[in-house]
Amino acid sequence: MLNVGIDIGGTKIAGGLVTDDGRILEKVRVDTPHDTRALAQAVIDMARHFRSQHDIAAVGVAAAGFIDRDRAVVIHAPNIAWRNEPLKAALEAGIDLPVTIENDANAAGWAEYRFGAGRGVRNMVMLTMGTGVGGAIVLDGALFRGGHGIGGELGHIRFTRDGLPCGCGQNGCLEQYASGRALQREANDIADGGGIGAALAALRAEKGSISGPSVSRLVLAGDPGATEALRRVATALGESCGGFQAVLDPELFVIGGGVAQLGDDLLAPVRLAYETSLPGYGDRPVADFAIAQLVNDAGVIGVADLAGAEA
Ligand code: BGC
Ligand code: ZN
Repeated sequence: MLNVGIDIGGTKIAGGLVTDDGRILEKVRVDTPHDTRALAQAVIDMARHFRSQHDIAAVGVAAAGFIDRDRAVVIHAPNIAWRNEPLKAALEAGIDLPVTIENDANAAGWAEYRFGAGRGVRNMVMLTMGTGVGGAIVLDGALFRGGHGIGGELGHIRFTRDGLPCGCGQNGCLEQYASGRALQREANDIADGGGIGAALAALRAEKGSISGPSVSRLVLAGDPGATEALRRVATALGESCGGFQAVLDPELFVIGGGVAQLGDDLLAPVRLAYETSLPGYGDRPVADFAIAQLVNDAGVIGVADLAGAEA
């Protein structure tokens, strides 16, 4: 049976025709419209495109926000203008098929658990380091959603008191210290400070700003300023993983999102911070850390699989 998975990202909407065993047969991508109505229409058009050519069982849509228990309404989205947005109804009105909405990080985490880095593990936590910090919790083989459908928002635990304001309305959230945006902010701070920030400052002078991928390139080239920026965000993430371990005791953490393309350069400082914040370290079993394997396709594959399971 074939399902359609559609992942609404901050800049692109990705859609795919997905098999039962998690393979994408056909992919499409369009820019994400800013207007929420145009955005819904773009998702509808994508689903119709697949539907006109194939027999589809279900459509899954991954979105970066707090999705209610019925997986119908986006209650809140820290980085998108959705507030109690009835997304499922809007989409089903245009697509003559059942639509399931899922949190984007949950979708990605589920894909990694089923078909990627988490295969064979029963308890897994996924963190995505992109525009925001997304979280997914798989406990004993099931995706954990909590009492109202919106559990696992690991990017919005308070990382520090009186910290930076967050799109969720609070301040000091992990998302402000461990996202791709946080990496850019740290890189800018280091550039401002001179010294090891020289290469970052030169880059900013040349391009006008410092992009996430350009920080990554400098890390891979061994630049000390970019490496320090990465160490800071990796430390924030790793310290929080020590806390997640205390609560959830997963066997594996999977790290995804744009920053995860740095691979071991990211995982080494994450592990170090995790070990220095883990209660009972030295005596207790620890979790493994892995980089996500399905990269940009995880959301599409995971949400198609979850929608198919419900159809
Ligand atoms: C949102 C999450 C989302 C994550 C990654 C966070 O700001 O609260 O729902 O999964 O960003 O997109
Ligand atoms: Zn927040």
